[in-house]
Amino acid sequence: MKKCLIVGGGLAGLSAAVSLTKQNCHVQILEASPKFGGRAYSFIDEKSGDEIDNGQHLMLGCYYETLEFINCIGVTNLFNSQNKLEINFVTRNKIKHQLKATNLPYPLGLFFGLLNYEALSITDKIKIILLVTKLSFIDSEMYLNISVNEWLKGENQSRNCIKSFWEIIAIGALNSQIKDASAKMFIDILKVIFLNGSDASAMIIPKVGLSKAFVDPAVNFLVAHKSELSLSEKLQEISVTQNQATSVMTDKRIIIDFDAVILAIPSYALNKINKNNLIIENNRTDLTTSGILTLHLWLKQNNLKKPFYAFIDSPLHWVFNHGNFITTVTSSADDLIDRSKEELFSIVTTELQEYLNIKREDISDYQIIKEKRATFIPNKENLLKRPSAKTKLENVFLAGDWTNTGLPATIEGAIKSGNTAADKVQKYFSSF
Ligand SMILES: Cc1cc2nc3c(=O)[nH]c(=O)nc-3n(C[C@H](O)[C@H](O)[C@H](O)COP(=O)(O)OP(=O)(O)OC[C@H]3O[C@@H](n4cnc5c(N)ncnc54)[C@H](O)[C@@H]3O)c2cc1C
Repeated sequence: MKKCLIVGGGLAGLSAAVSLTKQNCHVQILEASPKFGGRAYSFIDEKSGDEIDNGQHLMLGCYYETLEFINCIGVTNLFNSQNKLEINFVTRNKIKHQLKATNLPYPLGLFFGLLNYEALSITDKIKIILLVTKLSFIDSEMYLNISVNEWLKGENQSRNCIKSFWEIIAIGALNSQIKDASAKMFIDILKVIFLNGSDASAMIIPKVGLSKAFVDPAVNFLVAHKSELSLSEKLQEISVTQNQATSVMTDKRIIIDFDAVILAIPSYALNKINKNNLIIENNRTDLTTSGILTLHLWLKQNNLKKPFYAFIDSPLHWVFNHGNFITTVTSSADDLIDRSKEELFSIVTTELQEYLNIKREDISDYQIIKEKRATFIPNKENLLKRPSAKTKLENVFLAGDWTNTGLPATIEGAIKSGNTAADKVQKYFSSF
């Protein structure tokens, strides 16, 4: 049986491992931290006993490889899936506007949903529908050099169209400001979301914490298939003979019994072991990133009716309702993330009061989580740097949300990259 060593136990590494295991390959995973899951994990809040995520994760019906992954590890029942798109938007003066696709056949259901969305004037709604209709004819490559904001303005989208619709999708999906992200990436994901039937734009939310939803079941699957899993073990160096990795040195041992290696680690971690451009050109590993700020807040009494809300024109982008507690999400949070705990709590409570009438005295406790390097920014420079799964070494392959998946840095991108790297490994094995 061929053996593949996978470095990095985030979703990319875990999906590569599950995919290879299914193809009868022996897998060994090395993970530097004391837990699997990488940037998608949950833990128990000691005071409340609630399981909370390092950051709320939202998925979409077009996360096809993710849906296959959760089906394979047997946890589809741990996710709440909308039948079709439904988002409850809120304005600063507490007005709620629902965007809900109707039951009409696709794409009419989506367009009538937009026509019923009251945050926009009829002219704005028609402009959005026209742009969605035009998407399939747009060659995204032509828009690499321009920002999402420039593209939307060039497409005659008003300030209100941008603020009350496009910006909310863009910041959430790209974790970047619309002035920074390339329109190419945005157009590519809009095509996936809006041109693939009504299921594609439906929202999917885990019913349990991320570790219970993704990580533990994947680990259980791998253990049941006799994979070797090692935590708190960091790859430090790769030794190469004749264009092949022959041994790897970790902070604990030297490993030589493998036929192929998948490096499923973030770009900045690869940078450290990519000495003298050994694996890929060094200038492809220095992608710039942006942060995500999460506050979990426990309410004395929770009167929220919906599972989540999108805030129009606020530093808080989403609020998720978990019953016992609520979670606020600020994507592309670099301007806020270094502020003090007190300042952040004050900003968040002001917004919660203005949008949802949740007052400071309604909050019994809170916890702040800062993920400073949450995802890479999909600007032109970074998009051109993203490497493919193949490296300079014949038996070493890359995975990770930052590799060239054609998607932004998301769960779907990470899982897709893991599957792609696993396929490359299989192809390599079958070549001899
Ligand atoms: C707060 C937050 C919110 C998010 N929200 C969403 C969302 O709503 N929807 C969505 O789709 N995506 C979201 N994402 C993005 C998603 O979490 C990531 O795209 C995905 O988890 C990345 O997985 P990965 O395996 O590529 O990388 P990682 O999760 O970073 O995994 C890499 C692993 O490699 C390990 N490692 C690094 N160096 C070494 C070494 N030398 N040796 C061994 N191991 C090493 C690391 O410890 C880590 O566990 C969010 C991310 C964050 C941080």
